[in-house]
Amino acid sequence: MTTQAKSHLFYQSRNRRPVLDRARGIYMWDVEGRRYIDGSSGAMVCNIGHSNPRVLEAMRRQMEKSTFGYRLHFETEPAERLAARTAMLAPEGLEKVFFVSGGSEAVESAIKLARQYAVAIGQAQRSKVISREPSYHGCTLGALALTGYAPLVAPFEPMMRPMPKIPAPRAYLDGLDPDSEATGHHYADMLEARILAEGPETVLAFLVEPVGGASTGALVPPAGYMRRIREICDRYGVLLIHDEVMSGGGRTGRFFAGEHFGADPDILVVSKGFAAGYAPLGAMIAHDRIVEPVLDGGGFLHGFTYAGNPLACAAGLAVLEEIETEQLSGNAAVVGELLKSRLEELAARYPIIGDVRGKGLLLAFELVADRGTMAPLPPELKAYDRLVELAYENGLIIYSRRTRGGYSGDHFLVCPPMITTPAQV
Ligand code: PLP
Repeated sequence: MTTQAKSHLFYQSRNRRPVLDRARGIYMWDVEGRRYIDGSSGAMVCNIGHSNPRVLEAMRRQMEKSTFGYRLHFETEPAERLAARTAMLAPEGLEKVFFVSGGSEAVESAIKLARQYAVAIGQAQRSKVISREPSYHGCTLGALALTGYAPLVAPFEPMMRPMPKIPAPRAYLDGLDPDSEATGHHYADMLEARILAEGPETVLAFLVEPVGGASTGALVPPAGYMRRIREICDRYGVLLIHDEVMSGGGRTGRFFAGEHFGADPDILVVSKGFAAGYAPLGAMIAHDRIVEPVLDGGGFLHGFTYAGNPLACAAGLAVLEEIETEQLSGNAAVVGELLKSRLEELAARYPIIGDVRGKGLLLAFELVADRGTMAPLPPELKAYDRLVELAYENGLIIYSRRTRGGYSGDHFLVCPPMITTPAQV
């Protein structure tokens, strides 16, 4: 299904994909009329399914009024309303909403706000942001410095300031029990050790995905991990930033994945499912106590031209309404359980599936050569490419990532839209 074509358009490589014609619900059609199940909601974006008529109608209404109002010239009603709605969904105290157009922009905004806050409160020596390995936080240079995945980062390292990393809590690889708090504390305490090694007075923030996305393949933290992380951040005055670019928006069964773990962040970023692919939109949501000193000190030295675009915000509002009225987070929890149990049935039949994990409809499975040792598949098998192509040929889109280098350690995200029915599973 991968075609080689001469084109003026380019993305990562020369590989080209079928040309998309239209999409509706969980299905997409190419220009040759072939139908695909959108088994990954694009890149975990189209959470409420494609071509939702109520969202399209809300966008059409907004388009007739205005499609752009520069934020330094005008407030717009959709942006004001979406900010208020978002603040209501966010954890207690996170009331200040800053709009952006995507996940990398949201991460950049969060670390720059954190930095300006530290300067504003007289802690200018704090500038290091610790994150995890593996992780993905975006492709712009600031977000890339926080991304823990060497193949993506290495060529650009001379252009950026490397940031400290701690291992992601992949208990399934380390042979530890994810349901034991001892495991959660074991991994969280690596953060404390790293803060101490760096010098606590130099550490600005810790950035973490509450439920992992592409890099760890829907990694759910072990018991007690997120609470312990919160305690450690508080102990050293380190800000806690949740990257909910992929996990936010209801997919895990709660609007924000962090809600599952009983520990709130100081800053939160969300994108993908926030406007569910109807418009490029993301948000950074920060605690009042962080934003106020920055505004008092002269303002946030940061902003993007398209931020708060009224059309994108109208789409975001309509998506939130759809998630609430159709109770799509609840559906993601129920249908996710069913889908996970079906994946586990597959794993019971095929030992090549080494692990099935995730929460709600943020699910993944990982292929291994040996389930006992979790050894990755030999690269020459090219299992990654073969499975993606097989799925395409059978009308299914899945999202795949190599995490353990080369073609090995392949995991695949199984994340259909939150409107998926049990029959469609
Ligand atoms: N953070 C996480 C957790 C992501 O999954 C992604 C994208 O996959 C990003 C940040 C970057 O988002 P974007 O590609 O919209 O810039």
